[in-house]
Amino acid sequence: MRLLIIGPQGAGKGTQADLLCSELGIPHVSTGDLFRANIGAGTELGQRAKQYLDAGELVPDAVTQDMVADRLAQPDAADGFLLDGFPRTIAQAKWLSAVLADRGTPIQAVVLLTAPAEVLTQRMLARGRADDTPEAIRTRLEIYYSETQPLVDYYGPAVITIDGVGEIDEIHRRIMDALRAGDAAAPPAGPSVSA
Ligand code: AMP
Repeated sequence: MRLLIIGPQGAGKGTQADLLCSELGIPHVSTGDLFRANIGAGTELGQRAKQYLDAGELVPDAVTQDMVADRLAQPDAADGFLLDGFPRTIAQAKWLSAVLADRGTPIQAVVLLTAPAEVLTQRMLARGRADDTPEAIRTRLEIYYSETQPLVDYYGPAVITIDGVGEIDEIHRRIMDALRAGDAAAPPAGPSVSA
């Protein structure tokens, strides 16, 4: 299955993505994790991305998209994947639609995880990641609402909205039930999507 997971920081995307991937037997492709691994390993990509992660800003599309293209070309992604943290903008979504249309493997469902602002803030403060400074958190949330939330309209009926408040297992069950019920309709095809 080919899935996207979208939601503001602190909604529990990473946790739910891991559970979904083990249940569905698909790789978890997290652009944030890929960037952090490259930064940790001191690669050239990591060096190019670091300043943006530190500031909570988006890494330029060319860099991010090359990284995603390489990852999706790996054999384990041939039969499905869950993308977490990508796309984050309409431009990235259009790029992804076109790439997947070329492969004949469109996205089948988009999981939107939601939670109220107080819950998001509490979870962010609890996880203590290196780029979880107050300024970076604020910048990421602003970018989420201005750049990423419009993806919900872009993917339209393919979106399954899931309440991200509650026990981890219960939220996982909600997602699996919605996917099994086939709640999502087909997302837009790549090249036919207009500006
Ligand atoms: P995340 O782990 O998803 O919160 O991502 C951490 C950071 O990685 C973000 O604040 C961005 O700097 C960068 N990043 C992750 N995904 C993307 C993306 N799709 N486009 C641009 N930058 C990204």
